[in-house]
Amino acid sequence: MKKMNYQRPKGTNDILPGASEKWQFIEETARLLFRDYQYQEIRTPIFEHYEVIARSVGDTTDIVSKEMYDFYDKGERHVTLRPEGTAPIVRSFVENKLYGPEYTKPYKMFYVGPMFRYERPQAGRLRQFHQIGVEAFGSANPAVDVESMAMALDFFKQLGIKHVSLVINSLGDKESRQAYRQALIDYLLPFEAELSQDSQRRLRENPLRVLDSKDPKDKKVVAQAPSILDYLNETSRAHFEAVKSMLASLSIPFVVDSNMVRGLDYYSHTIFEIMNDAKGLGTQTTICAGGRYDHLVEELGGPATPAFGFAMGIERVLLTLEAEEVIIPVIEELDAYVVGLGEATNMESLKLVQAIRGFGFSADRDFLNRKAKAQFKTANKLNAKLVFTLGEDELAQGQVKIKNMTSGHEQTYALADVYATFDEIYDEMTTIMFE
Ligand code: ATP
Ligand code: MG
Repeated sequence: MKKMNYQRPKGTNDILPGASEKWQFIEETARLLFRDYQYQEIRTPIFEHYEVIARSVGDTTDIVSKEMYDFYDKGERHVTLRPEGTAPIVRSFVENKLYGPEYTKPYKMFYVGPMFRYERPQAGRLRQFHQIGVEAFGSANPAVDVESMAMALDFFKQLGIKHVSLVINSLGDKESRQAYRQALIDYLLPFEAELSQDSQRRLRENPLRVLDSKDPKDKKVVAQAPSILDYLNETSRAHFEAVKSMLASLSIPFVVDSNMVRGLDYYSHTIFEIMNDAKGLGTQTTICAGGRYDHLVEELGGPATPAFGFAMGIERVLLTLEAEEVIIPVIEELDAYVVGLGEATNMESLKLVQAIRGFGFSADRDFLNRKAKAQFKTANKLNAKLVFTLGEDELAQGQVKIKNMTSGHEQTYALADVYATFDEIYDEMTTIMFE
């Protein structure tokens, strides 16, 4: 008989209360910041037709050739869980004709959500992970590249992350890349036998991918490879120079790494990564990555539309926050806790918390008919500002005691008054009175 597996799938996480507040903080920070930059949210399906991803990300990339969660649905359609956000958004941009004249250019969107890649799980590498990303469509202006990178850096600054570095490179236009591709093949061929199996295959299929290899043997060979920056044509060089001088004009420090290529095929011109080198994380990790993709909209059937975007991994941002020991502000406050004493108060306690919430305050109560001491302990633990005490005597007289837990001040109110004007009673009870 098949053994039952009641555990979560390998490479996935349950985000439990206590941790989810941190996720909300990260997502909220992003939403507020992106609004300042005039990005609007887009939500696309979690799964797409296989071709959308294969065509965009590239058949010979690791993502498509090894890491896809693809399957045939009951209607024999080849679909895949999305491994990244850009291809689906470009598909949606084309399908919904967001390039139309009625839309302001650049058309700027952001997304937040889960992505799926069949990878070997380790710290900061999961099979279901989560990305926050942005895309700007319709401008080839290098100022878009720089504004986008500046926004990513702003985000980390707002989160309180300090140890970040910006690494940039240019892949040039198609002509430049073609020239470089040949130079790279010429360089790599004599080392073919020394390369990893994967890179030997990459050398034939997609030589730029060899530069992205994490294999130490490959890394050694690649270190001496020709630089793509020496193969940029006039237009490509001008774009990259503009990006660098604009970064400098904003006093944003950066380093150029001419071996950086990224794991996706759709990029051209500027690409970038933001690395974190906080002590404790051990090695440097990439927390954010992106670049320009001027031909992807056309590839998926739309009109020629230059574009720029990036994505960051929320799990890696969390690891970075932890490594830098950033304290995330968590609001833990409760306006009122109702202590109900005796079975008879059950119904009135129910009505009370509902009434308090109806006035727009947060409220909770005991449901287990516990002793007074235990209920007060919970009220303290929940940081309740006011504690209502409703015993059977109070109930009989249509009254309730309200105590301000900070000042210790306690007063008895008619239940009818609480139901009618709790907002005023709340003000009365929380305004500190010295007599
Ligand atoms: P890596 O080189 O680490 O595999 P990548 O080049 O595959 O990253 P992208 O596809 O550019 O990464 O994704 C952007 C960001 O998403 C990464 O910088 C990282 O923060 C995050 N990310 C990518 N893959 C994973 C994963 N399997 N688990 C967690 N986060 C991930
Ligand atoms: Mg990867």
